[in-house]
Amino acid sequence: MEFAHCSLAALSRALSEKKVSAVELAQMHLARIESHRNLNAFLDVRPEVTLAQAAAADARLARHDADCTPLTGVPIAHKDIFVTKDFCSTAASKILRGYKSPFDATVVDNLQRAGMVTLGKLNCDEFAMGSSNENSAYGNVLNPWDLGAVPGGSSGGSSAAVAACLSPVATATDTGGSIREPAAFTGVTGTKPTYGRPSRWGMIAFASSLDTAGLLTRSAEDAGLVFNHMLGFDPKDSTSANRPPEDYTRNLGMDVRGLKIGVPREFFGKLLQPDVEAAVREALAEYQRLGAVLIDISLPNAELGIPVYYVVAPAEASSNLSRFDGVRYGHRAAQYGDLTDMIKKSRSEGFGAEPKRRILVGTYVLSHGYYDAYYIKAQKVRRIIAEEFTQAFSRCDVIAGPVTMSVAFGFGEKAADPVAMYMADYYTVPGSLAGIPSMSIPCGFGAGPVNGKRPVGLQLIANYFDEARMLGVAHAYQRATDWHLRRPAGY
Ligand code: GLN
Repeated sequence: MEFAHCSLAALSRALSEKKVSAVELAQMHLARIESHRNLNAFLDVRPEVTLAQAAAADARLARHDADCTPLTGVPIAHKDIFVTKDFCSTAASKILRGYKSPFDATVVDNLQRAGMVTLGKLNCDEFAMGSSNENSAYGNVLNPWDLGAVPGGSSGGSSAAVAACLSPVATATDTGGSIREPAAFTGVTGTKPTYGRPSRWGMIAFASSLDTAGLLTRSAEDAGLVFNHMLGFDPKDSTSANRPPEDYTRNLGMDVRGLKIGVPREFFGKLLQPDVEAAVREALAEYQRLGAVLIDISLPNAELGIPVYYVVAPAEASSNLSRFDGVRYGHRAAQYGDLTDMIKKSRSEGFGAEPKRRILVGTYVLSHGYYDAYYIKAQKVRRIIAEEFTQAFSRCDVIAGPVTMSVAFGFGEKAADPVAMYMADYYTVPGSLAGIPSMSIPCGFGAGPVNGKRPVGLQLIANYFDEARMLGVAHAYQRATDWHLRRPAGY
């Protein structure tokens, strides 16, 4: 097998057995990034930076340094929501064009310390707001399975890069579904840990009570290997969970016989497209063949997830985005009158339509007279949704269902209708509001249009801090099936 198609586990072995060097891996991936530029997955690539990191990793491997890890020399790419010293950090917004951070995000720093080699920064929806990557100020990312389909969003660059084997792994962020939905649309494994488990330090903020760093990988096993070095308490992040380090690979051999899988009946309503439902039901049947037990559960208020999310997330976004004022960083209008005019013009020119829409909605729901009617009400329903999950986990070990209603849609199909676009996260938003870990694993293909194969994802949801078991459950499926090994033609 070509190294570009290898799992991270296999790359790690090849590096330690000296079958390949970190520099060779970096060069090979940089060449692939270059030859698949039409996907528009990358926003910033700097071969000199990447190759210097790779050479340092090779030196570490040659010395058999005690600080070598299974990740030393393995390439990775980062969503442009994570700030980086050596690459620009724009959040795919014009307002941050060319911005260089004076420090690295904790997630980036942790992985670089472990010896991972950064290939570059990945395109996404502006400030991670979107479900199709059509909101990037730097153009659409194409889905390698079908160039007419969206790669999902907001982590569309991350999903396309892993699906097209431009990187074996990519970081991403999930506020309402931005790891799981793009993973489902591109046939890769996407994992969002418990809120507070990964550091938010250096993650350009969208909705602080929801933003969670995670990964797009080829398999659950690869996610576990990277999480071992990526996650952990960070005193720089006041919402970081202060818990001892864990081995996220410890359940990878687990037996799922007798495992109780909750299947929420509300996730199989009439909005779910028949082709997606068929693939998801077949995946559940596979778990039954492996000995797991399916349990009918109910999440009666999950359907309120979208309206709740679109009050809470814009409220937090309107506050977070106020820091982009043309004074401290980012775009400043060329011509202006007084200070207010400068701020107004800089923000009008710098932000795209979606962040502007959210700033308006968020300011509205937080304003005097509407705060109680919208914001406080949404917080109460958010709590109810979280409690329904807690109740469900008293009856089952994990929850499973669809990630999305449909396979990847075409460019422009939902762009004119924000509510239709928001509905893309119907099944992912409830878990985000609760803050529980959740992932998408490839489980088949949809009926789709004639010009391509469009993948389907199975969503697994676990209780707080139970990501190791969730990865074990996913790995059991990936040992029994090969959907995660399928690759789009030509990559
Ligand atoms: N699609 C959702 C939104 O637009 C979720 C985005 C995300 O998870 N970052 O807000």
